[in-house]
Amino acid sequence: MPMTVRTRFAPSPTGFLHIGGVRTALFNWLFARQHGGQFLLRVDDTDQQRNVEAALAPILHGFEWLGLDWDEGPVEGADKASKGDHGPYFQSQRFEHYTDAVERLIASGAAYRDYARPEEVQAEREAAEKAGEAFVYSRKWRAETDADRARFEAEGREAVVRLLMPREGTLVLKDLVRGEVRFDWAREQDHVIQRADGSPIYHLASVVDDELMRISHVIRAEEHLSNTPRQVFIAQSLGYTPPEFAHLPYVAEPGSKNKLSKRKLDKYLKNRDFAALNEKGQQIAGRLGLETSAETFNPVIVDFYEQIGFLPDAILNYLLLLGWSLDDSREEFTRAEMIEHFTLDRVNKAPASFDPAKLTAFQDRAMQQVPAKQKTARSVEMLKTARLVTDPPACDVGPVVAGIVAAAGDRIKVYGDILDYDDFFTADDQLTYDEKAWQKRLVKDAAAGPLLAKYRDELAKTPDASAADLEAGLKAFCEAQGIGIGQIIHALRVATTGKAVGFGMFETLELLGHDRRLARIDRALAKLGN
Ligand code: GLU
Repeated sequence: MPMTVRTRFAPSPTGFLHIGGVRTALFNWLFARQHGGQFLLRVDDTDQQRNVEAALAPILHGFEWLGLDWDEGPVEGADKASKGDHGPYFQSQRFEHYTDAVERLIASGAAYRDYARPEEVQAEREAAEKAGEAFVYSRKWRAETDADRARFEAEGREAVVRLLMPREGTLVLKDLVRGEVRFDWAREQDHVIQRADGSPIYHLASVVDDELMRISHVIRAEEHLSNTPRQVFIAQSLGYTPPEFAHLPYVAEPGSKNKLSKRKLDKYLKNRDFAALNEKGQQIAGRLGLETSAETFNPVIVDFYEQIGFLPDAILNYLLLLGWSLDDSREEFTRAEMIEHFTLDRVNKAPASFDPAKLTAFQDRAMQQVPAKQKTARSVEMLKTARLVTDPPACDVGPVVAGIVAAAGDRIKVYGDILDYDDFFTADDQLTYDEKAWQKRLVKDAAAGPLLAKYRDELAKTPDASAADLEAGLKAFCEAQGIGIGQIIHALRVATTGKAVGFGMFETLELLGHDRRLARIDRALAKLGN
């Protein structure tokens, strides 16, 4: 590939980063990185009445979190960029280029000012439909001369600019994913490229920018395939050589081939895996005290994963395989390996379904490879966000979290799972008890209280006990009492953690430390009235 590879991702500022959008961005990023080229981010905001800043922030934040860095961009957007030296391109700041292009297209006859009123075009469209014919605009209000313009304007009409599209012949496009695609020009319309208020339409802005930014490969969602003929027409009319195109199949819904959309959440929640992932996320968000709305916090949107503590690399690895494969078996790729192996010709033509269970499995696997130190540090951050680290803290947070991380092992699948162990960070006199477990293990089991009281006295003698010592101690205690370990251990867990389940009991007791385990048993005994 002799030319410099330059790709771009062109998000509209929608206020959220869709998981399918990230897949598109990832493929662009990988392709550019692999060829030592550049990856550009260009905000498609030619049509925005809304607050672009606010709607863009989650998208840029998502890129930063995922580590999809972009090259180039104006310095004035630097505050929005992760690297801090350049922002993304904003089309709203580049209108003069689009206006120039429109003038050139009109001058060369490839476009014209059209003074039709929307209802007049609509009437033609309806008439064609009624007659069972394809709609072809009559070009009745096309201004060919200054005199035409003056006449139409005197009638109080306003002009849009339309392309004077070819009405016969075929465009043959060699798409790098889809292969040869043919389009009949007759099926195209005289598409609008500039609105009456002078603002450019996406198709024009996109083509002009792709040229000015020397984009070599346009890698984008399949839904833009049908836009390509008019874009090629614009490019050719302006004397550009169109870039290469690669249209990616869309990311489909879990368990179906329809396009994944953030608007069909109710439907996806009927999918068990999707619902489970969503439920887990909502639970963690609740514990973190996040104000979430289903609209912006669900498994279709990238922010969801960041908040609950997924690993960016796991998400990228999963998305890589959503529509691409190296061979039939290999699943794990580091970032460097993704860059090394990615090729457009191995992108599938058929849509790939978003599979929450598979994504979760990638995350589980990746999490088990994270060094303990990093897991601990990120877990501490989570606890702080959830305000579980109190002032003064209920325990020596760093070492306790390190201990939990070690003892919990693969129970910590996302960083938010550390919040399951909130009981360690609660002051001993504030511990709450799972009511069902309390009743079952301590109230209905009448022997539990007296046994706990006796064990407490044994425990009091071993202030420096390790988990192994504690285990040996409890076994000896049970033997002496002539009971099985099961007759006390559940009550002990509820008394010291408030919960029915957790990781190893002895690791738990060791992590609590001498004073805290005794204090908790004492509190439970007092509550029981022993
Ligand atoms: N803003 C368009 C989109 O989000 C960009 C399409 C393109 O890549 O040309 O779909």
